[in-house]
Amino acid sequence: MLDILSYLPAKRKQSPNGWLSFNAVCCQHNGDSPDKRGRGGIKVTEQGWSYHCFNCSYTASFILGRNLSFKARRLLGWMGVPENEIERVNLESLKHRNIHGILEQRQQVFQALSNISFEEYDDFPPYSEVITPDYPLYWDYIRKRGVPEDYPMMTAIKNNGIHWVRPFVLVPFTWNDKVVGWTARFLDNKIPKYINHTQPGYVFGTDLQHESWTQAIVVEGIFDALSIGGLAVMHNTVSDAQARLIRSLGKEITVVPDQDKAGLELIDRAVELGWAVSIPDWPDHIKDVNDAVIEYGRLGTLLTIMQAKETSKIKIELRKKQLVKRLRD
Ligand SMILES: [Zn+2]
Repeated sequence: MLDILSYLPAKRKQSPNGWLSFNAVCCQHNGDSPDKRGRGGIKVTEQGWSYHCFNCSYTASFILGRNLSFKARRLLGWMGVPENEIERVNLESLKHRNIHGILEQRQQVFQALSNISFEEYDDFPPYSEVITPDYPLYWDYIRKRGVPEDYPMMTAIKNNGIHWVRPFVLVPFTWNDKVVGWTARFLDNKIPKYINHTQPGYVFGTDLQHESWTQAIVVEGIFDALSIGGLAVMHNTVSDAQARLIRSLGKEITVVPDQDKAGLELIDRAVELGWAVSIPDWPDHIKDVNDAVIEYGRLGTLLTIMQAKETSKIKIELRKKQLVKRLRD
């Protein structure tokens, strides 16, 4: 396989979550000035690599067994990989085509045919950069909320080390490894608490799902999804477009509503869609999946969810009544 690291700029920095950062090679080709602050990142795995620029937001990835995408070819060109070498990488990769790759390509074709796609949206606030342990205020906050270390959360810090306007953590929204929006959660107690840039029909967390998982857990909030590897619909209901997208993943679906009045609506919608519902009997102070992960850890929470999973409409109604009673008491 191509040793992509040998084409990177000499000056690089290894981050604890496996990203290698260096001056991005993409920005000047996308109408931006050249990066001088090491905002290009690459993560190499046995299966391939993925590239993300936090300056001009260019992304590209490669998985052994697949065709090199247009974006990956452009990136390799900018890195100085010769054209004939790029062609050789592609041919070499196709020798590794396997059943997972073929199935995933079919899924992508299905999604394209069902008109499921999102525009690239990568307009981040000024001074945005990925949160690392160098910024304890933000780093500790996202660790405390159970966000996996390899999810690129962002904030905005000015050169003098002071945050930009208000302190926030920003969660990039991705779809097939491209950035299609984001939400910023402010850490002060002022209003608004969130700023969102999302697109109709978007579901957060598709890129958190593993090919080998047979189950998908649908939750309301971004942090719920991040802390458990679930899908977030970001409301207490599921739109028709979101339902189509979730179905297109081809997994068994279980909805876990927030344990509050608003969550009741999500239960009704799940029943309507014929999906399983889980309302674990958590103590009063645990209102959602994220609270549960903070208390029981990821595995403990998954166990309570799987134990309380109901597929029959009658049993779901019964669990819902118990929840209503708990909320009243
Ligand atoms: Zn760039």
